[in-house]
Amino acid sequence: MKMTLPFRPVYLLGVILASLLCSFVSAQQPSSTLVNDPAMADESQGENWLAFGRTYSEQRFSPLTQINQSNVGGLALDWYVDLPNSRSLVSTPLVVDGIMYFISSMNIVRAVDAASGEELWRYDPQVAQYASRRMRAGWDNSRGIGIWEDKVFVATWDGRLIGIDRNDGRELWSVQTIDPELAMYITGAPKIFKGKVLIGNGGTENGPNRGYITAYDADTGEYAWRFWIVPGNPADGFEDAAMEMAAETWTGEWWRHGGGGNAWHGFTYDAELDQLYIGTGNGSPWNRKIRSPGGGDNLFLSSIVALDPDTGEYLWHYQTAPGDTWDYTSTMDIVLADLTIEGEQVKALMHAPKNGFFYVINRENGELISAENYTEVTWASEVDLETGRPIENPGVRYELEPVDIAPTPIGGHSWHAMSYNPGTGLVYIPTIHWQNRFTDADVDLENFQAEGWRIELGVGYEFGASTRDDGATGTLQAWDPVRQQQIWEIPAEGAWDAGTLTTASNLVFQGKANGHLRAFNALTGEQLWDENLGLGISAPPITYSVNGRQYLAILVGWGGAMSALGGQEMADYGWAYGDHTRRLLAFSLDGTRTVPVSAPPRVPTPLATSDFIVDGATAESGELDYESICSFCHGGAAIAAGMAPDLRASGVILSADTFEQVVRGGALASRGMPPFADFSDAELNQMRHYIRQQAEIALAAGR
Ligand code: CA
Repeated sequence: MKMTLPFRPVYLLGVILASLLCSFVSAQQPSSTLVNDPAMADESQGENWLAFGRTYSEQRFSPLTQINQSNVGGLALDWYVDLPNSRSLVSTPLVVDGIMYFISSMNIVRAVDAASGEELWRYDPQVAQYASRRMRAGWDNSRGIGIWEDKVFVATWDGRLIGIDRNDGRELWSVQTIDPELAMYITGAPKIFKGKVLIGNGGTENGPNRGYITAYDADTGEYAWRFWIVPGNPADGFEDAAMEMAAETWTGEWWRHGGGGNAWHGFTYDAELDQLYIGTGNGSPWNRKIRSPGGGDNLFLSSIVALDPDTGEYLWHYQTAPGDTWDYTSTMDIVLADLTIEGEQVKALMHAPKNGFFYVINRENGELISAENYTEVTWASEVDLETGRPIENPGVRYELEPVDIAPTPIGGHSWHAMSYNPGTGLVYIPTIHWQNRFTDADVDLENFQAEGWRIELGVGYEFGASTRDDGATGTLQAWDPVRQQQIWEIPAEGAWDAGTLTTASNLVFQGKANGHLRAFNALTGEQLWDENLGLGISAPPITYSVNGRQYLAILVGWGGAMSALGGQEMADYGWAYGDHTRRLLAFSLDGTRTVPVSAPPRVPTPLATSDFIVDGATAESGELDYESICSFCHGGAAIAAGMAPDLRASGVILSADTFEQVVRGGALASRGMPPFADFSDAELNQMRHYIRQQAEIALAAGR
């Protein structure tokens, strides 16, 4: 011991010097993460949240453990930012080295200090000015942005892909990815890998559109490659061998209808196998009898397609809904994991598309390993593991008579993110339990031709009841992908709950449509924390850390398709348009704030008036225009759920002049209401009568 004494002061001095140096370095030069392939493939670091699903695996699993099962009940608000000009917020914020980047309504991107919320810069792509007529297709909610090295990438409603400087928000390059004449739009997050930015689009329901995805150079915005999802007219020649192969699975003159397949979400890059997986959309129009009258699988609709990330060349595919005729998109998350199945280590991908089956696929070759229904499924009895194909139940293609089908076009699971915890081995799925009725009895199948810029599906559908005995339309469930069975479930207060996050301390976090943010025990489903955030939540939470403090952050701003298409169940949440301030909130164990008070939920009451006499025949003439155009934001049967005003409660309808200025004149274009210059006076009048008729129906029913 004595021998060591003389060395001790020297050793201590060294430690002090080293720690001083470290603190000096960390104060002056914060560690700077290079956001590139190795960083996005790194599952071990938890400080940053670099991509939509945190890392390339899309697991939405965080290794952070400061917030755990025993202390999660003490989570409190640490900081928040009001976003008063926003409406629907559905996106995943990204965090790099203590700075948070996020996208809000009208595609405005902000950078804020991730420990205080202080705004560092803001980028506004002026969407209302660019989109104009395009605001008739899609919505202004974006699911996220991308980061690569020193740039942030934003895709806009109107179809632009823009690279901006991560340090100051300056626009560096911008490319238009959609033909402005086509009724397509973007709500998806750009996917970044290997110095490329990939973007898809939506629009399958808005016209005779043909889906594709395009990759651009991250540095310059220069075009790299495009993959078409469905074949075009063979007379024009095929773009590649994959399209020639796909054309064999279509019949009739499908190209007149576009075919669809638009991939608007569900892009995963597999750094291990250097493959890109694309989840593709449903058919356009929905009804296959119109689109491909002689039948056929209609590749690559409703599929996972593996591509070469450098060239976009086709590698393999697996189709989840062959010959789709129900809007069963496969654009949901594609999550990568190594699973041990029957003693073998398998490089798997996991996918829970709208059609109700949970798929585990060998991603080395695209072979189906297993598929079981994760919600009530009536369109198929099972998926045959020999052929990899679903076994359809008779009559499900509404070929004989109207048919009740589950899941609905909203899906058993939609884009609300699922998460996977490698520790528990479970997937946490926001699940929907609904059925709906399809019939094409009133459709002129032979002469159907969609015009574009309006919803023309080639089939009628009507939402029905819950498929569950307890009547719940939504649940959160933990699913074992190896055994292909449910481990636990929590019935929700309704449908349309948001995406999930899971952590290494075996927690699951989820925001609810009723405004509550909750934490659950990942193994048992026991609820451990509940905070009312005062407005329907439609975005998934993230977690990250700054200076040793773990934060849980979430955007709060009711949104997505069901907040637009409406329906009474959605309206009854009470997130009436314009009532509730949108926010970004961050919680921690050291938080000292309370969640700011929000306006109480309010279900709009239709306006009672004797100043407007509804003419039944005129109202009937307005139904088609209203339901195929206006309902896209203002809700079916004029029952709005918050994305846009409830027109039954609006005084604008009472005045022909004001209605004309808003609808034809574009008076509210800056707030997201597109101009409809082509409506005649007679058509405007018919729509007013239809809307007032819906108001009177609701009033008579006591709503
Ligand atoms: Ca669709």
